Amino acid sequence: MKDDILPQAALVDLDGTIFEITPDWSMERNSAWELETMNAGVYATSVSYLQALKQSGLVIVVLTARGQTCRRLTREKLKSHGLWEMVDHIHHRPQQWNNAPSALYKEAMIKRLGRKYSFMVAMEDEDKNLDVMRKAGIPVVIDAKRWHDGAIIPSVHRTMG
Ligand SMILES: [Mg+2]
Repeated sequence: MKDDILPQAALVDLDGTIFEITPDWSMERNSAWELETMNAGVYATSVSYLQALKQSGLVIVVLTARGQTCRRLTREKLKSHGLWEMVDHIHHRPQQWNNAPSALYKEAMIKRLGRKYSFMVAMEDEDKNLDVMRKAGIPVVIDAKRWHDGAIIPSVHRTMG
């Protein structure tokens, strides 16, 4: 079977899953929004999950609807919480997908990434994306909304030089 030779991986969303949601994104205020993401708290439960998934030997693949212009800040944000070291691959949304619903983008990417990885588990907060992941046959799909009322690790905001 093809799956037997693919590396086993976890598919991980960022906003609403690892980080608190940063509201009011629009194409017009994308740059301001990207800076605001630095203030988002981190869900303690998601950090524990990530650590467990990483320790179990899964490849950690982050798939985010954040644009590619948010690459540097996202790296900085993950680093400031000690999460960057856990991430093996990170995929930001290319510009040509800007007008498409997040679920369509993720569906296309899961199809593509599914040729490289065997996804064992997914962490995600949006219902439409959760459906896409279940339909893609990912055996364990964790709805991050269940820990939205849980402990928050405050943002470790650093002044950007
Ligand atoms: Mg999300």
